[in-house]
Amino acid sequence: MASKKIFVVCEYRKNQNIFREVSFELLSAANSLSKQAKEEFNVDYKVYAIVLDSGIDADFCQLSKYGAQEIIYLKNQKFSYYDCCYYSQALVELFKVKDPDIVLFGATNTGRELAPLVTSSLNTGLTADCTALSLVQNKGEIKLAATRPTFGGVLMATILCKNNPQCATVREGVFKKNEFEYMTLTEEFPLSESIFSRSPLKLLEFSPYELRESTFENAKVILCGGKGLKTRENFEKLEKLAKLTGCAVAASRGAVDKGFAPQEIQVGQTGKTVAPQVYVAFGVSGAIHHISGMSASKTVVAVNNDPNAPIFENCDYKIVADAVKIIDKLLEKFDN
Ligand SMILES: Cc1cc2nc3c(=O)[nH]c(=O)nc-3n(C[C@H](O)[C@H](O)[C@H](O)COP(=O)(O)OP(=O)(O)OC[C@H]3O[C@@H](n4cnc5c(N)ncnc54)[C@H](O)[C@@H]3O)c2cc1C
Repeated sequence: MASKKIFVVCEYRKNQNIFREVSFELLSAANSLSKQAKEEFNVDYKVYAIVLDSGIDADFCQLSKYGAQEIIYLKNQKFSYYDCCYYSQALVELFKVKDPDIVLFGATNTGRELAPLVTSSLNTGLTADCTALSLVQNKGEIKLAATRPTFGGVLMATILCKNNPQCATVREGVFKKNEFEYMTLTEEFPLSESIFSRSPLKLLEFSPYELRESTFENAKVILCGGKGLKTRENFEKLEKLAKLTGCAVAASRGAVDKGFAPQEIQVGQTGKTVAPQVYVAFGVSGAIHHISGMSASKTVVAVNNDPNAPIFENCDYKIVADAVKIIDKLLEKFDN
């Protein structure tokens, strides 16, 4: 019997020539599902990495190292930058032809946009923002059981999807990437121009996000920005302050979700765990999922304009103020 298929839609950062970490995490997670299927149900699932690009320079070996048993490469000039219309049209075509059983996307800005476009076109279900995946037997069929927090994280819901492909977006940092030793084949999937309808989107400007090295895991002083900073420009002010003072920058998930900072510097349950000498939180509410990543910090300073913010119960120094004004004042002091 032919193997069932798990597709992982991989994200390639063209300007940095790397795949996003979440792609590796999902390939590893897909391998865990495949192992479970073999052991519990004696069914073979093959793990495929799906890559879209206009002419990739990235090292495909990275994908096999972290669990791609086969790579399907969709190459087209339309993918010279991310355009959700062209990407979704190509994925819909691929899924119609290849008929995967399960498809995993990263719960990144890209994945969160792309996955619903694809699943609605295919009239199938999508479980968003999952934190756990497994396989279960349901009415004689093997199904993806995708678990996600609901009601603000108070309850966990496990959702099965009726149709194939059963799709999920999975949060970054939830699964560990593991190493494998696969000899992976790359298949180029031909895309006829007729599958594309003209995208209404037009790229006006491309400004790549400069990915800093995540040295903050070992930093003595960390400045963390939260959603309370409100804009990417204000987050840049925090980055400037950190540069001037030799500190490292981190972000809450609220800030990452808003696009102020990359996931690589997120602190918390689904981010990194840090233990600096001093942790200064600007506009971070102090949700338990954040605190769990920084509670080992020696001294915590919190700046929040809400005197009842939960972060104040987990800090040594409390500053009730507008975080941006405090950052501006500090910049005045150090930027001369
Ligand atoms: C399973 C799960 C895993 C999660 N993992 C993580 C994780 O790894 N890391 C993480 O951070 N979160 C994580 N979260 C999300 C977490 O629960 C919170 O939603 C998130 O931490 C909120 O980010 P925030 O504090 O930046 O934003 P918000 O909760 O929106 O808080 C913003 C804060 O800024 C303050 N503020 C607003 N304006 C200003 C101003 N001008 N000056 C000063 N303060 C201001 C507000 O009073 C508020 O307290 C997870 C959630 C779940 C369910």
